[in-house]
Amino acid sequence: MMTYDADLLIVGAGPAGAIAALTAARLGRRALLLEAKRFPRVKPCAGGVSPRARGLLRRLGLWDDVERAGYWIRGARLVTPGGRDTTLVGAASAVVVPRTTLDPLLARAAVAAGAELREATPVRGPLLEDGRVVGVRTDGGPLRAPWVVAADGANTRFSLDPRPRRTLHTCMAWFEGRFFEPGVLEMLFVPEVAPHYGWLFPESDTRANFGVCVEADRHAGTPIRELFARFLERHYGRRLAGAVQLGDRRGHPIVASARVEHHAAPGVLLAGESCRLVNVATGEGISYAMESGQLAAEAACESLRTGEEPATVAARYAARLRRRLAAPYLVSDLFHRRGMPLLEGLARLGDRPWFRRLARQAPA
Ligand SMILES: Cc1cc2nc3c(=O)[nH]c(=O)nc-3n(C[C@H](O)[C@H](O)[C@H](O)COP(=O)(O)OP(=O)(O)OC[C@H]3O[C@@H](n4cnc5c(N)ncnc54)[C@H](O)[C@@H]3O)c2cc1C
Repeated sequence: MMTYDADLLIVGAGPAGAIAALTAARLGRRALLLEAKRFPRVKPCAGGVSPRARGLLRRLGLWDDVERAGYWIRGARLVTPGGRDTTLVGAASAVVVPRTTLDPLLARAAVAAGAELREATPVRGPLLEDGRVVGVRTDGGPLRAPWVVAADGANTRFSLDPRPRRTLHTCMAWFEGRFFEPGVLEMLFVPEVAPHYGWLFPESDTRANFGVCVEADRHAGTPIRELFARFLERHYGRRLAGAVQLGDRRGHPIVASARVEHHAAPGVLLAGESCRLVNVATGEGISYAMESGQLAAEAACESLRTGEEPATVAARYAARLRRRLAAPYLVSDLFHRRGMPLLEGLARLGDRPWFRRLARQAPA
């Protein structure tokens, strides 16, 4: 008789892994969450927790804690590729939470629900038997479980999908000072990065993160750090004159897709960015990570009860993911391919007083 170290091994304690562990633990299962680093670790991310993410956090009973840790956004400055510059202020609808705060908070919630968290435990790869993943390899030896949820992010060790990845390159940094309007984020769809953008996301009244995000093949020849340095200089040089940079500039890939198709291998369900679940247009991935973590854990836990074949479980997980993500994927794909004229139109309307009044009623 096989002995297991857990019902579910979850690799990676980002938003996908933490919510997978929380879900499994709440379903009464032994969830073991393995994280390579020690909290609080830096995960390069602007920390925008969208209304979609807020909805899920609320349903999970975690929103109050996240809101307390977050900084409310009530407006957005948009700069279009054509040079229009408009700021729309609306109802507060999203928060920015640094990942050094958000991720330990979610992992703690999983532990409070009964999951076990092992930090500083890098997983070296899947443990394979007869072509099926039956656990993971760690420096302390193999760990076994009926199911593995891979939530190890952009550089996953679990995807067996040979198709090329759609990678966005990013570089970001944090600054302290009084160089932005409190509560107003900025998205600059300027020609050097469009249809992606450079951003300023406030984290408090005096601290903000900046970054650029661009399709991997769009900046051929110019290293992303150099592109970021030029972006900062060109668009924020004067405003940042008295500001202090906090820590180093950091680059990180985003692996995105406009389809649900990299979701499983025998014995493994992939969640979050390891499953390429990032919005191709905006780079938003926290909400999709948490939603997929929840769905993956639910699917794996159901199969522990029913004894279904891995292929059946994987197919059901994919179907549920598609149902949840079909609409946002369609919108993001359309925006990515045809959104710039729409943005120009929005920015043009942004100059009209009636539109500004209307925008004040809408979520930021
Ligand atoms: C610059 C930048 C800005 C972004 N801004 C936003 C934003 O504002 N809003 C938004 O919604 N999304 C944003 N995203 C996307 C978002 O960060 C990701 O989509 C999201 O973090 C994915 O969550 P995840 O849990 O799948 O993976 P991750 O958050 O990457 O977590 C993976 C975890 O697995 C751990 N891990 C990795 N390998 C191993 C291993 N072998 N063994 C054990 N543990 C391992 C890592 O240490 C990490 O803790 C941004 C991304 C970037 C790069």
